[in-house]
Amino acid sequence: MTRRRLSTRARLGLFLQAQGRCRICSRLLTPGTRWEIDHVVPLALGGADAHDNLQVLCAPCHSGKTATLDLPAIAKAERIRARHLGAARPRRPMQGGRASKWKRTVDGRVVERLKDPV
Ligand SMILES: [Zn+2]
Repeated sequence: MTRRRLSTRARLGLFLQAQGRCRICSRLLTPGTRWEIDHVVPLALGGADAHDNLQVLCAPCHSGKTATLDLPAIAKAERIRARHLGAARPRRPMQGGRASKWKRTVDGRVVERLKDPV
């Protein structure tokens, strides 16, 4: 998805639609208050660069949303994608776990797990 630069008219339209208030904290955005246009669903998560995916936020709320919601969600999506495509580094099995080749018997001995117990 490409990010297009919003025209002044489009920014004004969004501002008036939001009735001059931040969508998160409802603060009135008076002249001089820094406010920004936010993608509700981030572009990196497949959100559209379209009017219905944009909202007006004050600068603190925008940076807060980006840092606490958007970036972690994007990072998680990247981890899931890497694992899905097999690009993720294979994990070493937890020592003594079900995937390890060793197991502890009920009497306390550590023995090699049988490959195919049929
Ligand atoms: Zn706010």
